[in-house]
Amino acid sequence: MRIANLSGRLALVVDGRAVDVEQASCGRFSADPQAVYERWEEFRSWAAGAELPTGAALDPADLGSPAPAPRQTLAIGLNYRDHAAESGFAVPEGLPPVFTKFVTSITGPVTEVKLPAGGDTDWEVELVAVIGRRAEGVREADAWSHVAGLTVGQDISERVLQLVGPAPQFSLGKSHPGFAPMGPWLVTPDEFDDPDDLALRCAVNGEEVQKGRTSDLVFSVPALIARLSAVLPLLPGDVVFTGTPAGVGIGRDPRRFLNPGDVLVSSVEGIGELRQTFVA
Ligand code: ZN
Repeated sequence: MRIANLSGRLALVVDGRAVDVEQASCGRFSADPQAVYERWEEFRSWAAGAELPTGAALDPADLGSPAPAPRQTLAIGLNYRDHAAESGFAVPEGLPPVFTKFVTSITGPVTEVKLPAGGDTDWEVELVAVIGRRAEGVREADAWSHVAGLTVGQDISERVLQLVGPAPQFSLGKSHPGFAPMGPWLVTPDEFDDPDDLALRCAVNGEEVQKGRTSDLVFSVPALIARLSAVLPLLPGDVVFTGTPAGVGIGRDPRRFLNPGDVLVSSVEGIGELRQTFVA
């Protein structure tokens, strides 16, 4: 199953077309895309059995984030060995670095992003998991049952602010407006042959800069949920950015950052793509 946020309304995506959930369910489910995660099991069983009308045409430019207002966004650093190496850090053991992307940075999949003045703005394509059932002290073997679905995320990062000062400012440097695009929709885990092995990539102006597979994650989606939920409860609708593979701009020689006019396309196999255009 695929769900989307079409112009702020929850939609089921069927054969590439959008079925409005509030209308199709005669008001049983709210149009609010974030609210669905509170009743995820009930929604899934309704959607599995519902007689759905033919959907409306879907323009990706009208899509918002499939989780537009999570109570918590947890983002993971150094979760691919090749990215830890290019960043000059050891591969984390036990628990990877965790930061947040503040909720005001979240957008839909097709956006224009303003480059912060004086900054070095960089790309990080990531698989994003959205929680569908409260997870507290969850075992790794049970973790996938707490995931509503997967989507594509870009952990856009302004490196000057991220790295200034005596301790890194990961959360602020990665939370400028528009720095957390997600989408184009949420795909439930059962849709994938293997949700733990998905190709992800991103390209700047058509030139591939990152290419990886989520099977190379140091901490897989289930491992992250187990380790995070051992510390704090993960709530329905919470978002987990799982980390980025090698190929970010700051890890290149020479370093390379985004400029006005650049177009960044990010994708995950079996989900779809994001498209960000950068402006001064
Ligand atoms: Zn990241």
